[in-house]
Amino acid sequence: MQKRRLIYLDNNSTTPCDPRVVDAMLPYFYEMHGNAASRSHQFGWEAEDAVDYAREQIAQLLKSEDKEVIFTSGATESNNLALKGVYEMYAKKGNHIITTEIEHKAILDTCKHLEKQGAEVTYLKVQEDGMVNLADLEAAIKPSTILVSIMWANNETGVVQPMKAIAEICEKHGVLFHSDATQAVGKIPTYPRELGIHLMSFTAHKMYGPKGVGALYVSRKNPRVKVTAQMDGGGHERGMRSGTLNVPGIVGFGKAAEIARLEMQQDAERLSKLRDRLEATLTKLEETKVNGNVDNRMPHVTNISFKHVEGEGLMMTFNQNIAVSSGSACTSASLEPSYVLVGMGLGDDLAHSSIRFSLGRFTTDEEVDDAVALVANGVNHMRDLSPIWEMYKDGVDLTKIEWSAH
Ligand SMILES: *Cc1c(COP(=O)(O)O)cnc(C)c1O
Repeated sequence: MQKRRLIYLDNNSTTPCDPRVVDAMLPYFYEMHGNAASRSHQFGWEAEDAVDYAREQIAQLLKSEDKEVIFTSGATESNNLALKGVYEMYAKKGNHIITTEIEHKAILDTCKHLEKQGAEVTYLKVQEDGMVNLADLEAAIKPSTILVSIMWANNETGVVQPMKAIAEICEKHGVLFHSDATQAVGKIPTYPRELGIHLMSFTAHKMYGPKGVGALYVSRKNPRVKVTAQMDGGGHERGMRSGTLNVPGIVGFGKAAEIARLEMQQDAERLSKLRDRLEATLTKLEETKVNGNVDNRMPHVTNISFKHVEGEGLMMTFNQNIAVSSGSACTSASLEPSYVLVGMGLGDDLAHSSIRFSLGRFTTDEEVDDAVALVANGVNHMRDLSPIWEMYKDGVDLTKIEWSAH
């Protein structure tokens, strides 16, 4: 891969394609450009074979059946299909959905949409460490509950939820369990059948595959789950998702799944050591806080607050050299603190001062060392310039200050 000066530590937003993925895709733009639904000639058969093979590669990664993998355009669509599709299909059973406050917008906004259609949605609060409280979950279930949707790993903190325990609660109460597993699939083992997950969303571009292709796992036995299609058309994907399949994208997704299955463990071991090194060095700085449960976390992610340092400003000190995300979600004109961190009980100030570092397969030791040095310099520089930091160092209790409004 071409070497760039800019250090990419934002792999939770998207990962680069693995070159092996691109190589696998290329023939499907050119000589094998057929439509997988064309049943009458060689071009169609080749494309169909390629899709079948990719489905098998993905099913192997999940230890599922091929037919349980429904291709979509990405995790946003998979989440929409899962929630809206279950809501419509199981309308006779009830209208109550349980999710959490820290889900991706693709879940939260879909729930908001369903509320307008008559759904009742419970948004569970999470604990300070970012974990769902199982007793709260169980208490929220009622006879009208049809679906629990809880993400596997959080995109901002990397915190991993107790999937097995959640599945057991759903099983006990006869409720379907969907998980947005976008940040987990391909990086840690994710076997929905083994755990009792009935629907699971994921996407290629967070696991070194191409953008614009994803999948929804839908359990086919014990229970046989059905979702109402959200797009009408040719009845592709067992009638659940119409539209000509993105054959090159699916081929790349399959290759990415195969590589992930074979290399997941070694990647995770290497990256967790690198992540720990980054974290150990940066938390030597004064007044830092690692956000989220450090014992239940993705191996490649850390989210650190640097107290009294504004994250967006800090990023400007190294903007030309490191790509990371801050805890300020830039929505239109205003800088809002991350609702995930606020949901975990962080004050606006700590949320604004947080940076997410997400490492990836192509992150090198050297890049992490360079990034750590740049971040530490940036934090020290910002604090040197900050009157608030000076007051803090002088022992002023900042919570007791009455700031003038002028
Ligand atoms: C990235 C992401 C999505 C959206 O995936 P797309 O394929 O970009 O639509 C959904 N959920 C989580 C947790 C994500 O990290």
